[in-house]
Amino acid sequence: MAIDEQQPDGRDLTFAERYFTQPAPVREMPEHSRDPRVALSVLESEMLLDGDPAKNLATFVTTYMEPEARYVIENNLHRNWIDHAEYPRTAEIANRCVRMLHHLFHGVHCPEVPGTATAGSSEAVMLGALAMKWRWKNAREKAGKPVDKPNLVYGADVHVVWDKFCRYFDVEPRQVNLPRGRYTVGPDDLAPQIDENTIGVVAVVGTTFTGECDDVAGIDAMLRHLASTRGLDVPMHVDAASGGFVFPFSHPEFEWDFRLDTVKSINVSGHKFGLVYPGVGWLVFRDENQLPEQLVFYEDYLGERDATFTLNFSGSSAFILAQYYNFVRYGRQGYASLVRAMDRNSDALTERLAAEDALELVGGEPRLPLVIARVRSDEDFTGTDLVAELAQRRAWMVPAYQLPPDNDDQQIIRILVKVNQSRELADALADDISASIADLRRRAAGHHVHKRVHRGHGY
Ligand SMILES: *Cc1c(COP(=O)(O)O)cnc(C)c1O
Repeated sequence: MAIDEQQPDGRDLTFAERYFTQPAPVREMPEHSRDPRVALSVLESEMLLDGDPAKNLATFVTTYMEPEARYVIENNLHRNWIDHAEYPRTAEIANRCVRMLHHLFHGVHCPEVPGTATAGSSEAVMLGALAMKWRWKNAREKAGKPVDKPNLVYGADVHVVWDKFCRYFDVEPRQVNLPRGRYTVGPDDLAPQIDENTIGVVAVVGTTFTGECDDVAGIDAMLRHLASTRGLDVPMHVDAASGGFVFPFSHPEFEWDFRLDTVKSINVSGHKFGLVYPGVGWLVFRDENQLPEQLVFYEDYLGERDATFTLNFSGSSAFILAQYYNFVRYGRQGYASLVRAMDRNSDALTERLAAEDALELVGGEPRLPLVIARVRSDEDFTGTDLVAELAQRRAWMVPAYQLPPDNDDQQIIRILVKVNQSRELADALADDISASIADLRRRAAGHHVHKRVHRGHGY
């Protein structure tokens, strides 16, 4: 240690005096070492300034795992998933997860592994969309047609990753605005945009805006019609980042997956309703024909050929292994039970909020376990005011945001109800929303409102 424990005058320096009186290093790496406890304290004291993930009702991403699952993660953080030669069992376990998802999404028997683990749905989306682009290019070249103007067709209810894909990989985004008063798209919205340069169509199952689903079956019927009447063979990719681990359990009859002929690939986030901490995602293909050779890289090891297709290279196995742990631990019945629990608490919260005359509930079924509400336009406060009040009251993190065009004059608030949002917490949140509305109304009416005293961390 290069740091003096004593001042020149012989006075002892406590930990507090030596470090807690110093600003944290922000620009240059410190010259000298500190002992682990000091470094940990520097970091942990600062993390207190961030929100508590347990109160983050804005995120779809998992904020709670059981102790055994955390143990799996802790014990495998040092295992690099991409080292298939050294960790063949881990690679096999990732493949099992892909097969189980293929089966969950009603894929028919498929001898090879039709997909891959990814860092999240974003990487899975990029790879799924690249596969569509290569398949389109290969078919066009075979037919002697130009390949310089690929486009991708989707609604304005998609996640921003789809715009990102189009820009990064030079594909024209044909984004269709949502009709007024609707928050998803269907065949009639998308069909006019499709032509021979369309590499594919995207449908969202569980949108980030309202948790609802595009009309996947309608889009499938439209694509089949296009194939039979105009000879256009356009595949559909389903972005089921959230919905892929919800609807197979909550709405098993809802056909959005490989039961539909034109659905060729699906992405799902393991770290959303797959109930694993970030980051793990999955890309699953309908069959091997959907994976163009150009995406696959071969490596030889131990006399065997290993094929990978990922954008990422190194990454911890911990979250992939935790996904398999969850599959073994919960099984289909367990996931179904957890989804039912989330839906019940989400229904209970919906009922409480429906009773608030300042709010209007938004969205239909089927949808993810969440509540979407809008502050009525005749109130003298906005959704932004309400979420600020909730943050102040008990540090709840709730987002207020605009819907996509043509509904972008509407602001809504979105409350996720995840596995750690127990009924007690959902009720406490509903109480806080009621009290916040009452305060905001009183304040708007010009009355003096007693300022709340902040106690500790506000828990
Ligand atoms: C979250 C989300 C994504 C991005 O997924 P990550 O796993 O965060 O990379 C893409 N699409 C939808 C519909 C999402 O909800």
